[in-house]
Amino acid sequence: MASKRTVSFAPPDITEKEIALVVETLRSGWITTGPRVKAFEDAIASYTGADRAICLSSATAGLFLTLHAFGIGEGDEVITTPYTFAATANVILHVGARPLFVDVARESFLIDPKNVADALTPRTKAVIPVDFAGIPCDYTALYDVIASQKKTVPASPYLSRPLLLADAAHAFGASVCGQRAGVLADVTAFSFHAVKNVTTAEGGALTFSSSSAIDADALYERLRLLSLHGQSKDALAKMRAGSYRYSIDVPGYKANMTDVQAAMGLAQLARYEEEIVPARRRLWHLYATRLREMPRAILPFQGDDRISSAYHLFPLRIRGMDEAARDALIHALAEEGVAANVHFIPLPMHPAYRDRGYDMRAYPNAYAMYKNEVSLPLSSCHTDDDIHYVCDMLAKHIP
Ligand SMILES: *Cc1c(COP(=O)(O)O)cnc(C)c1O
Repeated sequence: MASKRTVSFAPPDITEKEIALVVETLRSGWITTGPRVKAFEDAIASYTGADRAICLSSATAGLFLTLHAFGIGEGDEVITTPYTFAATANVILHVGARPLFVDVARESFLIDPKNVADALTPRTKAVIPVDFAGIPCDYTALYDVIASQKKTVPASPYLSRPLLLADAAHAFGASVCGQRAGVLADVTAFSFHAVKNVTTAEGGALTFSSSSAIDADALYERLRLLSLHGQSKDALAKMRAGSYRYSIDVPGYKANMTDVQAAMGLAQLARYEEEIVPARRRLWHLYATRLREMPRAILPFQGDDRISSAYHLFPLRIRGMDEAARDALIHALAEEGVAANVHFIPLPMHPAYRDRGYDMRAYPNAYAMYKNEVSLPLSSCHTDDDIHYVCDMLAKHIP
């Protein structure tokens, strides 16, 4: 019997180029935060169009340090979506603020700006939208909502309105009217976790630009300080012979990226536009073409003449399925060698949030998106045959 095909969910796309740059770094004698991190930061800023980028140990660290840098904490509220990974809301609790979930729009995975408007209070200090699956949220509408709000009070040392902090963990390379994710919000967080479009195994970055409210260089310096124990000098400066002296200016955290990670990121970024995105886009559209023929398939938004996706996920929905039928489908696919997934179990359904009093019944649109969602395998490593096999197995197991 021929061995069964297996299609893993999101294998990382690592070539000899990543391996060579990592090995070169290991041989260089400098492996933690140093010249390659600085080069990766410059490359991210240049790619996204932002004034500055800072590399960190994860997107989670970036979201947390941003809330911290903007002075958000005890007694403050931060509005976000229930349709996200725990990282987005956990960081709000970590700084001592209260997460306020507002529902996604009907038949959408993205936060509804109208619900944000209704939820703003004088305590609202930030809004964290999530660019689910690689589709940017409506930042124009979100800016209108937070700017027009008379109810709000100064949010931070920098801003006289709530901070717009984008969770763009899925959206590296996405754009709206030619403007890339990274310049669409006040501050943008990217993830380079192993399953994301660009990976450094673990890692993340923040991007931001100077505006009437934000001095990008000052914010960079503040975040750098917070990410390395509040130490006045970075590791490289400290290592220069004879310059041991440093001071701890604030009790900071430990969330810096290493040069080994940055080497991997530099190689990924160099391949991103030419190899990784085109492969993801082509496979995404192959799914769309095949699944359009399936009567029960509800295809995800593919972008339009304004919005260009990063093609991070293919979140298929199956008309008429409930949670139990969807879970049975995922099990059947697993038996056929196909690793499907669900993005996401909405946060109010998790004990950590349910036990804090959040009630899923308050988010009917999010529940409707979740109950029949199946994320299909998608990676630039997959072949056309992989995608055809997944579609054949869906056709076989969806009655
Ligand atoms: C992956 C992910 C994160 C967390 O990224 P890390 O780099 O692992 O911290 C945050 N938000 C969303 C929506 C994600 O998918």
